Amino acid sequence: METLSPEFKPKIGIDTKEWLPSMDVVLPIDGSEIPDFQKWVNWNGFRPNHSGIDFAAYLNNRNELIIGLQEGLPVRAIADGEVQQVIDCYGPYGTTVDIFHGELNDSADSRYTHVVPCVEQGKKISKGEIIGTLYKDKKIGEQRLVHLHLALYNSWKIAQSRPFADPEIVFGAENFIECDSSGSPEPKLIGVETQPTKIIIANQNFGSETRVITPAWKTEN
Ligand SMILES: [Zn+2]
Repeated sequence: METLSPEFKPKIGIDTKEWLPSMDVVLPIDGSEIPDFQKWVNWNGFRPNHSGIDFAAYLNNRNELIIGLQEGLPVRAIADGEVQQVIDCYGPYGTTVDIFHGELNDSADSRYTHVVPCVEQGKKISKGEIIGTLYKDKKIGEQRLVHLHLALYNSWKIAQSRPFADPEIVFGAENFIECDSSGSPEPKLIGVETQPTKIIIANQNFGSETRVITPAWKTEN
């Protein structure tokens, strides 16, 4: 889907101010819609080989790390804009919605992947409006549990799919707890290593469990 040249390196953080000049953004997934929600975990952060952020894991009120979200969870536009395109990828990324925030916000674009869209190209969108719902894509495994991949661009027409803004910076680091992981089922939470008591791989329903993993930091003593 994305065609980045090998020498291209995203400018992490540097262009965030350019992307943000007048942006008034909301998170694309509302934590209040998740029972026992406490904090988002930056499961697979903005990196040259990833170019987005995955809303894939969260801490609940008992400091348990829940990996995987609920299928059907609403995905919301982060700002006012217009649907630039809806892409049915037929592959591991599922369907993608791109929203152009240009007229109001200096040509910023946001991309939402692994969603079932409920909008069409050209539709005007308001900040926080539901644009689709999450679904489980075709690959099996922890990395492919239900999650939202969000990428931000400073201009679709100029940048041609090159990601510019780190979503964690756009939304504020205080909204996330970092996770040293690339989808491993045994992540290490940065800064809260001793807090989570267990890691739960969620299936389609909140509260149900398919597997409980003892975190590495609980077995080192
Ligand atoms: Zn991703």
